[in-house]
Amino acid sequence: MHDRVLIVTGGSRGIGAATCLLAAERGWGVLVNYAGNVEAAEGVCARIHAAGGTAVAVRGDVSREEDVEHVFRAADRLGRLAGLVNNAGIVGPGARVEELDAERIGRILAVNVTGSFLCARAAIRRMSTRHGGAGGAIVNLSSAAAKLGAPGVYVDYAAAKGAIDTFTVGLALEVAGEGIRVNAVRPGIIDTDIHAAGGDPGRAARLAPSLPMPRAGTAEEVARAILWLLSDEASYTTGSTIAVSGGRAALP
Ligand code: NAP
Repeated sequence: MHDRVLIVTGGSRGIGAATCLLAAERGWGVLVNYAGNVEAAEGVCARIHAAGGTAVAVRGDVSREEDVEHVFRAADRLGRLAGLVNNAGIVGPGARVEELDAERIGRILAVNVTGSFLCARAAIRRMSTRHGGAGGAIVNLSSAAAKLGAPGVYVDYAAAKGAIDTFTVGLALEVAGEGIRVNAVRPGIIDTDIHAAGGDPGRAARLAPSLPMPRAGTAEEVARAILWLLSDEASYTTGSTIAVSGGRAALP
């Protein structure tokens, strides 16, 4: 049994995958959650195993309660849960608000917001001293979009990430006396598949020259901030959000 297990939702690709790899390097036993891309998830685990680490890939849609329970039960079999990264996130194709329908808005909120709540709930039930746990840390993925609003592209996603900002503060205060720290990172434009998923694969390269630091960030650069927030180096940090955005939307 591993004494320090980390669940990374959406750990198969992008920022989540980079977080899994770095966490394993730093001694965490890692549960690599994914939605459907089993090859990518198993690929992350294979790299961790090859380096002598512990990892298991578990499929599950974070917006579904039964899937979340399945994922956390698999983590229980790995060892003691000590960390959660609420990383799974989706955008829809670029559109204006008057073009959105309830199904799209509901799905964006379900994965980005409800999924983070459901996973935090399961983590708190295991980690909180109130429930006999030994404490832990939660890191949520916000976005620069929460500050910028993403007009004309995906205001629904931006609003979901705004909800994550408030969720981070509220939950941090709720469990601050129970051994759990809750923080967030706010990435800017990071070079991952999410832009292609939103129908605009060239987005990061196109926007790069206009950014304060004129390049997109890498998934590894975000992962390093996440790992710091998870670590004891951040022992007095809770309710905080770190912008990892090369200066984009850097004001709190
Ligand atoms: P990505 O490359 O598109 O990867 C998304 C990951 O989430 C994949 O592992 C995917 O699994 C998983 N996933 C999607 N829906 C899921 C669900 N319902 N349940 C469980 N897992 C699910 O994304 P990314 O760019 O790394 O983004 C990671 C996080 O950072 C997101 O919360 C995103 O909003 C945030 N963020 C990203 C950027 C950016 O520029 N990239 C900027 C700001 C914030 P499969 O592989 O199985 O599909």
